[in-house]
Amino acid sequence: MVQVCVAFGANLGDAQATVLQAIQDVGALATTKLHKASSLYASAPQMASGPEFVNAVAIYETDLPPLELLDALQNLENIFGRERPFPNAPRTLDLDIIFYGDVALDTPRLKVPHPLWRERAFVLKPLAEICPDLVRTQWLEQVSGQDIYRL
Ligand code: ADP
Ligand code: MG
Repeated sequence: MVQVCVAFGANLGDAQATVLQAIQDVGALATTKLHKASSLYASAPQMASGPEFVNAVAIYETDLPPLELLDALQNLENIFGRERPFPNAPRTLDLDIIFYGDVALDTPRLKVPHPLWRERAFVLKPLAEICPDLVRTQWLEQVSGQDIYRL
């Protein structure tokens, strides 16, 4: 069993319902169990366009290898109607692997830990809520200019 952290983002359709459903759906993947989920947050788009985002993060335990987990998450994105008309387009659902145990991977398909997670309030804030030991106060201070609030 490996502990993994998944970040959820949505800014099209009923984003709150999508994120809540997706948190459960990831927990229903083969060999995967939801350990802890954050509250929902709303954030202004960062390097993306369109309406406000709904964000959350959750910790799971899984036996899926990293690329199989990524395949399953991308499959879920597709089920929720994800389209990629252009980079950073508004999205019905974005699922990013923030970390996969303490595995480090740097391939085009999968980079873990996620290269941008410490720069994103929409990852740090929800993660600090459920795993305060993983998030340093200094990192939160560095992203304090980013608009985000708990729903
Ligand atoms: P965004 O960068 O906005 O999340 P996408 O969701 O379209 O954009 O992802 C682009 C690509 O990033 C995916 O095809 C995926 O293979 C790759 N990728 C690399 N590392 C990760 C990761 N840690 N989690 C999710 N996708 C990743
Ligand atoms: Mg993504």
